[in-house]
Amino acid sequence: MAIIDLHSHSTRSDGKESPTEVFEHAAAAGVDVLALTDHDTTNGWAEASEAASRLGMGFVPGIEVTTRASVQVAGRNRFISVHMLAYLPDPENTALRQELLTTVNSRENRAMLMVDKLAEDYDITWELVLEMIEDGATIGRPAIADALVHLGAADDRSAAFRGPLDSRGKYYVPTDTVDSFDAIRLIREAGGVPVIAHPLTDISPNASRGDLPQDHFEKLIDAGLAGFEVYHREVPQNAREWLLLLAVEHDLIVTGSSDYHGVHGKPNRLGENTTEPEMLERIIELGSGVAAQL
Ligand code: AMP
Ligand code: MN
Ligand code: MN
Ligand code: MN
Repeated sequence: MAIIDLHSHSTRSDGKESPTEVFEHAAAAGVDVLALTDHDTTNGWAEASEAASRLGMGFVPGIEVTTRASVQVAGRNRFISVHMLAYLPDPENTALRQELLTTVNSRENRAMLMVDKLAEDYDITWELVLEMIEDGATIGRPAIADALVHLGAADDRSAAFRGPLDSRGKYYVPTDTVDSFDAIRLIREAGGVPVIAHPLTDISPNASRGDLPQDHFEKLIDAGLAGFEVYHREVPQNAREWLLLLAVEHDLIVTGSSDYHGVHGKPNRLGENTTEPEMLERIIELGSGVAAQL
């Protein structure tokens, strides 16, 4: 059976390898179909498409859209970060493009604010952070992590995330970004298929920031959410069981993926979780913005 992995990152966002290298590694790992889903950008698609053709692999164009849900917790409004995978959206769609640009800019402002705070205690500069990434890459905490590693302040990215970059820590600044409902609408209007990435990774009582309340899922489904990434290393077993029941109840798409960030980016390995061919078929039937290359 074909090995299908629908979530990966390159140097166009926070991955450590170019789109070409990601596809070369995927081919070596026996992956048949790979989606490149860099954060808030489609800049890697052209190179991914070429590499996939050369290697005889399938390529599914995607984006991991940074969104946030506004929820009521104990009578108070809170924002919960929701990463929304968008498969096969039209990259030329003006409204979606505009929203992604706004997010990329707000990620940059937020990263600058974090670097300002960190600079009170570390020798970090904005220039050093920019040296860690390609021109035009979507910036995130991983670029700041790389700068801290470069300075010897952390052993690797994961150590930086457990330390100064922890979302509960004093240096953390959240990203101001598109509401999850608006993102679903924008992705749909661009012909894309919205699937929540790694849902409910933060449901444990001692989790860093808490996760989406379960009744919120029904609202997102009513708004046009197409499915969930159930099989992902960070989705706990009890969440998987609940999500699978919800998916059956609403006849939704269920996917599985690695969320690869490069050999030295994160421990996630290509093909470690996979998507059933029937589920990819459903994504292809539903998506109308751009064709999958199979
Ligand atoms: P941001 O979106 O800028 O808040 O940064 C979060 C991103 O950092 C996620 O999309 C992950 O890909 C990445 N990330 C989170 N934890 C780690 C980790 N322990 N090691 C490497 N990258 C991580
Ligand atoms: Mn990432
Ligand atoms: Mn994510
Ligand atoms: Mn990801």
